[in-house]
Amino acid sequence: MISPFISSPDGGLPSAVRWSHLLIEGRLRAGDVAVDCTAGNGHDALFLARQIAPGGRLFVFDVQESALASTRARLLEGGIAEEGFSLIHAGHETLAEVLPSELRGGSKVIMFNLGYLPGSDKTVITETAKTMHAIKTALDWLAPGGLLTVVVYPGHEGGAEEAREVAAFAAALPPREIEVQHLRPVNRSAAPPECWVFWRRGG
Ligand code: SAH
Repeated sequence: MISPFISSPDGGLPSAVRWSHLLIEGRLRAGDVAVDCTAGNGHDALFLARQIAPGGRLFVFDVQESALASTRARLLEGGIAEEGFSLIHAGHETLAEVLPSELRGGSKVIMFNLGYLPGSDKTVITETAKTMHAIKTALDWLAPGGLLTVVVYPGHEGGAEEAREVAAFAAALPPREIEVQHLRPVNRSAAPPECWVFWRRGG
């Protein structure tokens, strides 16, 4: 029997989002710090919040109030206490100015799920320059042994450029400090989502 843990609901291989969750699962502990850089509908935020409760600190960024509102509702419905999360109405590119400075180098997991919010205004989409600035900064906020995941959508408007920039950036990172892997379907004609994972050595 195929383990549902490592497959999609139809028994196929994991989607990019699923990969990001599989890679993170089991690495977080109660009391840890985690950051979700793109709240969207709050699925990733709830996934993280559950694993760091009680006592964890989750920071969630989004530029859309509506995304933060649905994330807040999902977290509360999921039984996450108010003091367990901070919703930040700002772009993830401001991460270094907004997060408490003592948490620099202390976040166990940082997630990015790029593109636009499904079922909403497709004009609010992550922008390559801001995304790249945010990813570079976020790596400095990662704890030794911490993971940063990025789900990119090359099929979205502007997504192909974003995917190329993430790839170029990842390839140039010093392997003794950061290990990077890239998970993606290779034999589909469309441009399916891809998962990047960055692991800061140590810990
Ligand atoms: N594409 C994903 C969902 C991504 S949601 C999927 O298909 O499931 C991406 C979120 O990023 C949106 O809610 C959008 O408002 C947010 N966003 C866009 N630019 C941002 C920025 N600079 N900082 C933080 N969030 C941003």
